[in-house]
Amino acid sequence: MTRVALVTGGTRGIGEAICIGLQAAGYRVAANYAGNDKAAQSFAESTGIGVYKFDVSDYDACGRGIEQIEKDLGPIEVAVNNAGITCDCTLHRMDRAAWQSVIDTNLGGCFNICRWVIEGMRERKFGRIVNIGSINGQAGQYGQVNYAAAKSGIHGFTKALAQEGAGKGVTVNAIAPGYVDTDMVRAVPENVLAKIISGIPVGRLGHAEDIARGVLFLVADDADFITGSTLSINGGQHMY
Ligand code: NAP
Repeated sequence: MTRVALVTGGTRGIGEAICIGLQAAGYRVAANYAGNDKAAQSFAESTGIGVYKFDVSDYDACGRGIEQIEKDLGPIEVAVNNAGITCDCTLHRMDRAAWQSVIDTNLGGCFNICRWVIEGMRERKFGRIVNIGSINGQAGQYGQVNYAAAKSGIHGFTKALAQEGAGKGVTVNAIAPGYVDTDMVRAVPENVLAKIISGIPVGRLGHAEDIARGVLFLVADDADFITGSTLSINGGQHMY
């Protein structure tokens, strides 16, 4: 059976690796993105995976995007909520926009996507949802009250929705990546990054493929007894 998977923020970084991993495993994949058309175009050309531009923080746009994906590929059976942004700043300097945009994209995006796909998954009695949280949602991080709150919220969201889906064949799990070598982490100043790497017992940043491996494990048909869990993939940096 070929299942249909949606990966938000699927055209770059961790999402790109998740899309490629799912495609290699036989899923029909849709990759969502927000605005970087150039990256999306190059991703689509190199993978043959369809790209869908909509903002996950916009509930109605998510509805329209999902309607289009389901027209093109069929009902979404696997949803990977991966789209995320940072807007780092200490709280005493943070403006409301930096707070709201990070909450609306990272956490609001999970609600918006899940709300549009959950009824179909429950009716068909099959669904796999994976939400990408963060080590910084588990441990907190200086300069990231917005991001840590959003990611921590994702972990609670996951456990609550897992309870609701358990009797309907819908599993809901989270992955909490540590520091992974993507554009998001490349934006961290070099001296800060060197300090971070020195605190990772495995001695390196994660690769996007390290996270994709976890997603593939959690979405498998026979992973039906794994729900409400958080898989930490962080090179041993934080043992939760
Ligand atoms: P990235 O390289 O910055 O890529 C982000 C992806 O999300 C892009 O495809 C981007 O689209 C998309 N996106 C951003 N805002 C969006 C929105 N409002 N609507 C739809 N798509 C949106 O990020 P990454 O490092 O791969 O991170 C992926 C996820 O892992 C995020 O949730 C992040 O918080 C989490 N994470 C990352 C790390 C890390 O070390 N990298 C660690 C822990 C957790 P465009 O290309 O159009 O901008």
